[in-house]
Amino acid sequence: MPMDERILIVGAGLSGAVIGRELALAGHLVEIIDTRDHIAGNCHTERDEETDVMVHVYGPHIFHTDDKEVWDYVNGFQKFMPYKNRVKATTGERVYSLPVNLHTINQFFGKTLRPDEARAFIEEKADTSITDPQSFEDQGLRFVGRELYEAFFQGYTQKQWGCSPRDLPASILKRLPVRFNYDDDYFFHKYQGMPETGYTDMVAKILDHPGITVTLSTQFKRTQAGSAQHIFYSGPLDGYFDFELGRLAYRTLDFERFTYNGDYQGCAVMNYGDAAVPFTRITEHKHFSPWEQHEGSVCYREFSRECGPGDIPYYPVRLVRDKEQLSKYVARAEQEKAVTFVGRLGTYRYLDMDVTIREALDTARLFIARRNAGAEMPVFLNRPV
Ligand code: UDP
Repeated sequence: MPMDERILIVGAGLSGAVIGRELALAGHLVEIIDTRDHIAGNCHTERDEETDVMVHVYGPHIFHTDDKEVWDYVNGFQKFMPYKNRVKATTGERVYSLPVNLHTINQFFGKTLRPDEARAFIEEKADTSITDPQSFEDQGLRFVGRELYEAFFQGYTQKQWGCSPRDLPASILKRLPVRFNYDDDYFFHKYQGMPETGYTDMVAKILDHPGITVTLSTQFKRTQAGSAQHIFYSGPLDGYFDFELGRLAYRTLDFERFTYNGDYQGCAVMNYGDAAVPFTRITEHKHFSPWEQHEGSVCYREFSRECGPGDIPYYPVRLVRDKEQLSKYVARAEQEKAVTFVGRLGTYRYLDMDVTIREALDTARLFIARRNAGAEMPVFLNRPV
């Protein structure tokens, strides 16, 4: 295979940047285009002009992983500063510790339970008639009982996903642990941190290779793929096919920015569990960079809603109906040649950053191995349905 064959990558987010770099290192010429006017996709960070605070423009992104190789990979491009995600929740006019832990249980029920006592107490509250939780609601009622479920999960989830938690899969709630100790780290991964100069700077360094060119503000058109020998596509799967089978459902977010002189809420993320409060959470960005000093503060109130044609897609909804539509797009995609769909949007999955990077590394390696063997590259690394 000629090593100077032209590879087109659609999207300069984590997937596109990591695949691009691996292929450039292997000697390929890589052209990356992105519809937006910046790199780094939804983990894009930039300094707020007014306060100089590093802002997570598309909402909170905290890097956490158990994958040593991925951790070493990102550390090769950025110094990761120690950061623990400690989220608080306001519900029923009180503030609690999250994820639900011994402190939350004792605060909520006004008790001083020890771990074993709390476990027995919650087991009594839990709906043990649910043996195989299928829905988000089943999962909540089975593992924390009705009171905690209603205070912390029901309202928030209704706002976040725009539907009843009864219609959502249990897997969404499985992202959150319930702990019978005072560990309030939101994540249970071995490695966690925040890039010292932001995610966009990290992605810029990943992209900084003479074999890579990046063109921004450029919309991909299937008909213009031109002479590329292979395309790695990290844009929306339905967008690749001009939505010919309808639109896959996404949630989009609106951020209401406000500033404050001082410390507005004392933590990076405050969730709001009450259904009557229209936003899901408030992010105070300067707390994502605790090693920096800033007098002023910039905060985002986060509102979730259905994603329309002109909006930025954030969360794939993946209800039964969406999965049926996804199956049709996957079948359609499998008829394509010389294209591989990657990342959150390309595979319509709720992906954390570390998994995105892991899959991007695996995709690039498979491509290189297949090329060397003269074999075809699959359309999906892992079939999304
Ligand atoms: N969730 C909730 N209450 C909370 C936080 C999360 O009900 O205070 C639910 C909600 O449905 C959310 C899911 O748990 O979509 C996963 O939460 P996570 O914090 O992982 O969401 P992300 O940070 O990806 O938006």
